[in-house]
Amino acid sequence: MPTPRKPSAAGRGLIFGDLWEFDPAPETADPKLKERYELFIDGAFARPRTGKYFDSINPANERKLSEIALAGAADVDLAYKAAARAFPRWSALPGRERGKYLFRIARLLQDRAREFAVAETLDGGKPIKESRDFDVPMAAAHFFYHAGWADKLEYVAPGRRVVPLGVVGQVIPWNFPLLMLAWKLAPALAMGNCVVLKPAETTSITAMKLCEILQDADLPPGVVNLVTGAGETGAAVMGHPLAAKVAFTGSTEVGKAIMRQLAGTKKKMTMELGGKAANIIFDDAPIDQAVEGIVNAIFFNQGHVCCAGSRLLVQESVAERVVSKLKNRIRVLRVGDPLDKNTDLGAINSREQLSTIRRLVASGVREGAVMYQSPCVLPEKGFYFPPTLFTKVTQSHRIAREEIFGPVLSILTFRTVDEAIEKANNTAFGLSAGVWTDKGSRILRMSTELKAGVVWANTFNRFDPSSPFGGYKESGFGREGGRQGLLDYGALA
Ligand code: NAD
Repeated sequence: MPTPRKPSAAGRGLIFGDLWEFDPAPETADPKLKERYELFIDGAFARPRTGKYFDSINPANERKLSEIALAGAADVDLAYKAAARAFPRWSALPGRERGKYLFRIARLLQDRAREFAVAETLDGGKPIKESRDFDVPMAAAHFFYHAGWADKLEYVAPGRRVVPLGVVGQVIPWNFPLLMLAWKLAPALAMGNCVVLKPAETTSITAMKLCEILQDADLPPGVVNLVTGAGETGAAVMGHPLAAKVAFTGSTEVGKAIMRQLAGTKKKMTMELGGKAANIIFDDAPIDQAVEGIVNAIFFNQGHVCCAGSRLLVQESVAERVVSKLKNRIRVLRVGDPLDKNTDLGAINSREQLSTIRRLVASGVREGAVMYQSPCVLPEKGFYFPPTLFTKVTQSHRIAREEIFGPVLSILTFRTVDEAIEKANNTAFGLSAGVWTDKGSRILRMSTELKAGVVWANTFNRFDPSSPFGGYKESGFGREGGRQGLLDYGALA
């Protein structure tokens, strides 16, 4: 294997001798950022009652991008009141009329796709090829899909009438900012609800840009209201008395705090929480394809993925081969400038997340697992972490039990199918799993016995708006996507 040398002057990632070298390929579309983003309440941008703003920075170089309004309880209250005023007319519109608004939003987002992709990459650190080819098109797909449902709600629960709930409060995380917003807004609106939503504090920009689209689409004032801020603002959104339902995506820890806060109220809830998915490789799997699948499962979006395949279970007879191919593969992953079209892993979303990753990786080393890291040279400024694997991991290690939410893979082995199932299910989470094998019958058995909301077979991280997504156990409850996701935003009349 050639040894890597220092990155080029442009600060690119791995370069191997004279084998190959990419020229920098920076994306240059204008993200059209504003210096300051206000709240979006009752169809208009509004200054926060708190008078306070916080910075959103680019994690790739730690430079400030914009100022974001900090919403307090009084702002959240105004947002809920606007939503409650809008609800009677919005919910009474014929479904096909609501559908037209959703179609418009989807198309306007497509029109501005490149601009949104650049903004998402600048604000969150993810590689441009992912925001361009996954986040933004998938977000538009969710609006299209739910636009199609809006006039067919009688088929959501055949034989029963489904009615909207009223005003729903939604809080989302930073790993897929625009996409999580689309997962939340589109079904809620299609069903006839009005919304108060809070994006995550490190990634509010694309959500606020979407409000420009809501205005261009002529969405009636008050139907969607966005308030920005951190945990305190989130707690005000979840706890507001006008919320008929709350939908939360984020960590299990905060999900539990919200459930404690809302215990005893009549609010409906959906919780999309953390995960520690098993990605299981049997000895009859197509090994090279599986290695690509393992890389996608853990290094997509720097591993900031709730359903990431962060626990690799490999059948003992092929473990050595798989690990050696995996090491070769991660040596050539390109880590660096997220705006470069050739970058595979961009920046870690925040300094806090980087220290969480470092802390858990240090625990892996301390507890006796064996670490291998890509020898890539990281940019000097910004938050970066190299692709990392751990072998000799046992089930009791923290890195096998806790969500790291970074580019770190814990590798365990098994001998029999029963042992694979036992180890895969030996976790507090239950969001997703992957199975790689040549045998259809084994796939069927695994998919029924693995306690996970999604089980991928011979692939990983596949999403479609028509496919419900959600967890078991500490990964939460309720579904997003598909008929099941819509049902979670309605009541049977
Ligand atoms: P987080 O729980 O720290 O924050 C999520 C959101 O909750 C943010 O908007 C934050 O401001 C807000 N918040 C914080 N404290 C709050 C409180 N007390 N009340 C209300 N809101 C509060 O999570 P994160 O670090 O932003 O996101 C990563 C987590 O999200 C991971 O655990 C990941 O697995 C999970 N996630 C789950 C899914 C899923 O579909 N299951 C999808 C994406 C991310």
